[in-house]
Amino acid sequence: MTLVSDELHLKSEELNNYWMPFTANRQFKGAPRLIAKAKGMYYWDDQGRQILDGIAGLWCCNVGHNHPRVVEAIQKQAGVLDYAPPFQMGNPLQFELANRLADITPGSLNKVFYTNSGSESVDTALKIAIAYHRARGEGSRVRLIGRERGYHGVGFGGIAVGGMVANRKMFGTLMAGTDHLPQTWNLKEQAYSHGQPAWGAHLADELERLVALHDASTIAAVIVEPVAGSAGVLIPPVGYLQRLREICDKHGILLIFDEVITGFGRLGTAFGSQALGVTPDLMTVAKGITSGTVPMGAVFAKDEIYDTFMSGPPHMIELFHGYTYSGHPLACAAGIAVQQVYQEEGLFQRAAELAPYFELAVHSLKGAPHVIDCRNLGLMGAVELQGRAGSPTAKAFEVFLKCYERGVLIRTTGDILAFTPSLIVQKAEIDRIFGTVREVLETVAA
Ligand code: PMP
Repeated sequence: MTLVSDELHLKSEELNNYWMPFTANRQFKGAPRLIAKAKGMYYWDDQGRQILDGIAGLWCCNVGHNHPRVVEAIQKQAGVLDYAPPFQMGNPLQFELANRLADITPGSLNKVFYTNSGSESVDTALKIAIAYHRARGEGSRVRLIGRERGYHGVGFGGIAVGGMVANRKMFGTLMAGTDHLPQTWNLKEQAYSHGQPAWGAHLADELERLVALHDASTIAAVIVEPVAGSAGVLIPPVGYLQRLREICDKHGILLIFDEVITGFGRLGTAFGSQALGVTPDLMTVAKGITSGTVPMGAVFAKDEIYDTFMSGPPHMIELFHGYTYSGHPLACAAGIAVQQVYQEEGLFQRAAELAPYFELAVHSLKGAPHVIDCRNLGLMGAVELQGRAGSPTAKAFEVFLKCYERGVLIRTTGDILAFTPSLIVQKAEIDRIFGTVREVLETVAA
C-alpha cells in the first residue's frame, strides 16, 4: 500500500530551518527519518515504508494511531467551535471531559486543571503545591523534592526537580530550593527483576534525611514518577511508594505522582497509582489523555486541595495560573473520544491481560549479546546494554537505527532500550519487536 504523495518528499536543502527538539540536527540531516502517515500499530515513512511502532509514538498513542472514532471527533469539533477563551469563560467539553476523568481517578483526585503538555502539568502541580500551603497559612513550605534520574519535562520547574543531568547542565542555576532523593535502580540487587524488585524500599527513607536537613516546615512537595520512564523504565521497589506516602503524611508534605507516561492504562489500570496501590495528593498527566492526537495535559488535585483555595482568603480564590489553550475544544473533543475508546474497547484491562506475555518477551532477551538487565511492569519494558567505554549512548543508538532499518521503532536512552507499545498491540507484534531487537543485537560489535 502506498500512502504517500510526492509532496511528502523533502530534498536535503529543505531540512535546514527546523530546529528539532532533543535531536542532533546535523546528524539527522545525513539520514533523515520522516514519518508521514500512521494507522493502528503502524507508521509509514515518507518513502512509503511501513514501520511497526513499538513505543506508541512517544509513550502516548495508547489507543493506536488514527483511531476512526477519535479522528471523527476532532474533525467534527473543528467545524463547531475552534476556540473559546478559557479564562472567566468555559466550553461544555471541558466540564464533560473533567467529569469523565474524575470517574476514573483514584481517591478524591477529582479536580482537573488543564494544560497542554506534561511539562506544563508538572510546573502547574508544583505551583499548586506551593500556593496550597500558602493558602493554609504555611507559606514557608516552598521547597520541592524530586529524584535522581527523574524526568518531569523541560520547564524550569520540571528540570529543577528532575534528575536527568544532560537536561539540566546547559541551563544555569535552575530553581532555588530543590533537592533530590536517590534513584531507585541498582543493577547489582535488581537486575532481571520480573515486575517490581523486592530490594530497595528503604531508599524512600532518604526522605527522612532530607526532612531532617531542611525541616518539614520548609518542604512543600515530593514529586516522583511511579515508574521512571525516560530514564530507562526504572520500576519502583515493592513498598517504596507506600513508604514515601507514609513519610509525606507524617510531615504534612504533598506527594505528587507524575503519571505522564503511567497514566491511561500503561500499567493495566487507569493510572499507575492504582496498579501500585498508593494515592498521591496531586497527579500530572498528558500523552494518553488524548492518545497523543491533540496536545493536552492535566493536573488532578484532591478535593481537599481545591476546597482550600475555594474557601481560602479572597485573594486565593482564583489560582493565578493558566494557559491560552487550557482545555482547548479540539483537545477536549479528542480527550472525550479517547476516554470512550478506552472504556468501550476495555483497553486498560487488555493491557493488564497482555502484561504477562509482554513480560516474557522482554525477558526473552536475557542472554542476548550485550544485555545486562531486562525489566518490566505492565506494558512498559526496558533492556539495558553494556555500554562501550567513552561512548555511553552509541551502542543503544546503533540498535535503534538498525531496528528502524528493519521496520521496527523502539526508543533509547543512554544504553537502555525502551519498549511501550500501544494498548492495542497483538502478541505477534510483540514477538516481532523483540525478535527484531535480538536479531539486531547479534550484529552489534562489542
Ligand atoms: N513527565 C514525564 C514523566 C514524562 O515522561 C514527560 C515526557 N516524556 C513529561 C513529563 C513531559 O511531557 P511533555 O513532553 O509533554 O512536556
